[in-house]
Amino acid sequence: MRELAEMAWIGKDDVFDLSNTVTLGGSPDGSGDIDFFTDVGLTATWRIRTQARDLATLRLDTLIALRSLVRAALDAADREIRLPKPVRESLNNLSVGAPVVLTLDAHGHLVTTDTAADAQGRIARKVLQLFVQSQASVVVRRCLAPSCGMFFQPRRTDQAWCTTRCGTRARAARYREARAATT
Ligand SMILES: [Zn+2]
Repeated sequence: MRELAEMAWIGKDDVFDLSNTVTLGGSPDGSGDIDFFTDVGLTATWRIRTQARDLATLRLDTLIALRSLVRAALDAADREIRLPKPVRESLNNLSVGAPVVLTLDAHGHLVTTDTAADAQGRIARKVLQLFVQSQASVVVRRCLAPSCGMFFQPRRTDQAWCTTRCGTRARAARYREARAATT
């Protein structure tokens, strides 16, 4: 649990701060998942660590509902499938609350001003943009290392793990499996 409480991966990007609050197979006995938002201490730590102040102050039930939309969209991006209709419609409805204003400055540059008043609309818009980008190139992957399952943005096309720590753990697990199979 100590490594979990550090939340080294939280505080880098608001969308991924929200999506990566569940570790798959991360419970101490290695069997179940750990959801930060079902633990008062982990939720409190997350609220402090996330860089998005407007997210940090959302009610817990709102956070959980928004997270399920975000995770569904990132999962679809990772698996290169269509967005499920209810997910698409819910994200669209939230995105309406986050208009962007375009203006032209004196140098002829288009200036984009984010007028989002609420975190949900802003996150929904970012997720929709990310999903569309994922149809052209790999912008989202899910880490398949043991006790992880985090979504991440690969820096290289062959990057399979979210961190080198996860890569090391995954290789060690594979080695143990191979040895178990031969003995
Ligand atoms: Zn990982």
